[in-house]
Amino acid sequence: MLDHLTHTAPDPRTIAGTTGDWELVIGLEVHAQIASKAKLFSGASTQFGAEPNSNVSFVDAAMPGMLPVINAFCIEQAVRTGLGLKAKINLWSAFDRKNYFYPDLPQGYQISQLYHPIVGEGEVLVDMGPGIARRVRIERIHIEQDAGKSIHDMDPGVSFVDLNRTGVALMEIVSRPDIRGPEEAAAYVGKLRQIMRYLGTCDGNMQNGNLRADVNVSVCRPGDYEKYQQTQDFAHLGTRCEIKNMNSMRFIQQAIEYEARRQIAIIEDGGSVVQETRLYDPDKGETRSMRSKEEAHDYRYFPCPDLLPLEIEQDWVDSIRDALPELPDEKKARFVTGFGLTEYDASVLTAETEAAAYFEAVAEGRDGKAAANWVINELFGRLKKDERDITDSPVSPEQLGGILDLIARGDISGKIAKELFEIVYTEGGDPAEIVAARGMKQVTDMGAIEAAVDEIMAANPAQVEKAQANPKLAGWFVGQVMKATGGKANPKAVNEVVTARLGL
Ligand code: ADP
Ligand code: MG
Repeated sequence: MLDHLTHTAPDPRTIAGTTGDWELVIGLEVHAQIASKAKLFSGASTQFGAEPNSNVSFVDAAMPGMLPVINAFCIEQAVRTGLGLKAKINLWSAFDRKNYFYPDLPQGYQISQLYHPIVGEGEVLVDMGPGIARRVRIERIHIEQDAGKSIHDMDPGVSFVDLNRTGVALMEIVSRPDIRGPEEAAAYVGKLRQIMRYLGTCDGNMQNGNLRADVNVSVCRPGDYEKYQQTQDFAHLGTRCEIKNMNSMRFIQQAIEYEARRQIAIIEDGGSVVQETRLYDPDKGETRSMRSKEEAHDYRYFPCPDLLPLEIEQDWVDSIRDALPELPDEKKARFVTGFGLTEYDASVLTAETEAAAYFEAVAEGRDGKAAANWVINELFGRLKKDERDITDSPVSPEQLGGILDLIARGDISGKIAKELFEIVYTEGGDPAEIVAARGMKQVTDMGAIEAAVDEIMAANPAQVEKAQANPKLAGWFVGQVMKATGGKANPKAVNEVVTARLGL
């Protein structure tokens, strides 16, 4: 797939303690809300920001006698996500009840997949810069219900509950502990987000809580991780703590950094890390204990009696695989080989499918590198200034392509092209027509250029003598001619005339 790109793995992050170096080991459980209009087991809407408790069916409210009905669309999205992560799809999976009581989940249990998840082992390539990537193994993806929201800070005497989110479909993507630093953890979440956005299976909106992560952190001595890799024996790794419910890349990094240092201090002090669930407090920049790590048996998991095991057909999985869109790694590789881009430019252009499609429309049949420069530097820069998205760019790919064609034909200089771009951006219009109507065409008429050079040389005899003695100063004349022609003279032609006239 990425055969032509040679990747090396980044070094693990080390922290120097008082007793020697430590390395970080991180595994993530990412909860991704499936982009579905209806919930996992009911027809209620999943619309964000709706009036509290307006998207609640009898099933979500756990009225007696209500039975869950699987939303096939959600299953398909989980399969698509699994295929996108190059994972094994389990044709036979089953739902279990995870018993716990909180008012935001009126059933008194969450329907999840503990024993037989729908997706098995896969992998993600986490890019850490051109030529540097880490392969993070995916352990499993299972489907489960989300809980609602208890609200304790609206009234001093009463708690409220909003069940709109109750029963919304989540995919829990569990990684192996293959992530070796805070930046990698953030990049891993970013890569999952990118892949799911390409697939359309999760919108990746972290602010709305549609993508959040439980972050498991432990520390070990250099060399211990290699032993774990060779044996897959967790005994070589340190005791982990799990930081719950992180929905910001920045906080994920801060929390890991803090947590690793906290654990190192405990161990170096002669203590031992207690496996527990912790919460990150962004205001204080620290993690604090929430509860000691529960065991699976505390939840009294058992197969959900309301749902039959989920059996899917290999043909169906194959048809989903055949219809998968091109994914980020493949698109990036194609941009590098097909358009001659640097890996960096290809990464920038493939971050979102919309930007990639825009670029391709501009680059098709033109110089790929020039198209990339214009899209990244001029267009993205200009859009950013206006806080606009590529999807509502005032300049269409056809218009930008038109500007590139004018440059390629030598009709306009690079400087004029930037002015033209700004006109098209603010006023719209056909680039070629604007150039014709406003007399922006580059002057390649040698007679006109020679006249301009002669005029400037006649007015600056001292400068002519200096330039003849020191050819480096010839550039001054080129600059003057460009200025005099309002940037419209062909710089190459001007350069030739100046050099000839100076007798260089
Ligand atoms: P649980 O059942 O308690 O959720 P899992 O074994 O499923 O525990 O692991 C949960 C997550 O913790 C996984 O992403 C896994 O990679 C990670 N993990 C396991 N051991 C460690 C460790 N020693 N250090 C860091 N992460 C770990
Ligand atoms: Mg867990």
